[in-house]
Amino acid sequence: MINLEPLIFNYSKFDRKGYSLPKSDVGIDKTDIPNTELRPDNDLPEVSEIDVVRHFIHLSTLNHHVDKGFYPLGSCTMKYNPKVNEDMCRLDGFAMVHPLQPVETMQGALQMMYELEKHLCSISGMEAVSLQPAAGAHGELTSIMIVRKYFEERGEARKKVLIPDSAHGTNPASVTLSGYTAVEIKSNPAGLVDLVNLDKALDNEVACLMLTVPNTLGLYEKEIEKIAELVHKKGALLYMDGANFNAYLGFHRPGDAGFDLVHFNLHKTFSTPHGGGGPGAGPIGVTKNLAKYLPVPIIEKNGDKYELNFDRPNTIGKVVGFYGNFGVIVRAYVYIRMLGAVGLKEVSECAVINANYIKKALEIYYELPYKDICMHECVFSSDNLKQYGVKTLDVAKRLLDFGVHAPTIYFPLIVHEALMIEPTETESKESIDKFIEAMIQIAKEAKENPQILKDAPKTTPVRRLDEVKASRELNIKYTKV
Ligand SMILES: *Cc1c(COP(=O)(O)O)cnc(C)c1O
Repeated sequence: MINLEPLIFNYSKFDRKGYSLPKSDVGIDKTDIPNTELRPDNDLPEVSEIDVVRHFIHLSTLNHHVDKGFYPLGSCTMKYNPKVNEDMCRLDGFAMVHPLQPVETMQGALQMMYELEKHLCSISGMEAVSLQPAAGAHGELTSIMIVRKYFEERGEARKKVLIPDSAHGTNPASVTLSGYTAVEIKSNPAGLVDLVNLDKALDNEVACLMLTVPNTLGLYEKEIEKIAELVHKKGALLYMDGANFNAYLGFHRPGDAGFDLVHFNLHKTFSTPHGGGGPGAGPIGVTKNLAKYLPVPIIEKNGDKYELNFDRPNTIGKVVGFYGNFGVIVRAYVYIRMLGAVGLKEVSECAVINANYIKKALEIYYELPYKDICMHECVFSSDNLKQYGVKTLDVAKRLLDFGVHAPTIYFPLIVHEALMIEPTETESKESIDKFIEAMIQIAKEAKENPQILKDAPKTTPVRRLDEVKASRELNIKYTKV
């Protein structure tokens, strides 16, 4: 049984202090006032510094995180983020800059953002980039707003956006939020866009096709060029969900492949810790003819001065306060500058090799619905364990006993009992081998002693939760023990 950590209130001792201050030389010494007088209701913990440190260190080890262990969540890129990025974004010049400062006093920050935009342009082959959207889904929404503006200016009332059933779930949500109707395109048996279905769905009401590349099966859309041709023939625009750019950095550029718009997830591909809903950044890139619609302000370089241009008549307006999530932008800049073109290409090579290594090693133990070479992630199904009464949920729970975060489960929706695994490029062969061993042992247990899986996890601070009860009877109040 794991040693659960009590609430910090349980360490409280009357009048214990976590600080020490020199005696005041101006009259009454505040440090002589008992804590209770400062807080008559006495409802704050009174603890020493070491109590606080130990409490939070212990709490941090109860939780699973990427600094503690393998985190192969599919479509999330929970890779290790170099600590130097943290150091750089905390430099005074970055951390203390205020967005309302006069531009002459924040030239360095503007230069960094301007250069990052240019790097993202050359990585994606797009003409112009805006760093403003605050997350991947926000990048999608911003892009669809641009699509809308583009058709408005042409005087065309298009209503639909096409989305393959292998797309990320945020795509239809962004489309609906922006007032378009999302229309699903069924994939072909290989898990790719079915060109016949696409062609049928493409009428004059279609504004855009949103393509997740690689799709959520971890597969590359081999017929992108034909897809682009079909879409453009109908006057529609082609959007690429590039959240998982770590699958093809230096190998594929959406701009070259005929995409009109793309979004990046800086917090996935370009390294920012993002578990638990931390800040993200979802910059978008567009072609030359769409650049005039980008959100304001645009960062411009005149001579050796950087300026903010708000005077853009065709802009969709503002999508976020100031210029986006600045700290995430700094981390991405450092990451790109540190790796360079060669290093970024290696990132993708490792991401793809790692995923295919897992795919090959596990294909005789778990069902593999799509056999093709995958990109940065692979999708299995535990349908083959059903005969022993074992579900994907049981496999995921059992993995926790091996000190591994469970992969994404029951997504993508087009795979039954799905297990979606993204090892990421930052894991060593040794840690991936350990994961493979655990997965093989679990497949064997399913056959020989499925009860072990049903009882899992046994080594985590909390055992299997009653998820129905948790969502129906939500209670997040603390209770003093
Ligand atoms: C993560 C992800 C998104 C959404 O990004 P958020 O930053 O979580 O909004 C969109 N598409 C794909 C393919 C993703 O993996």
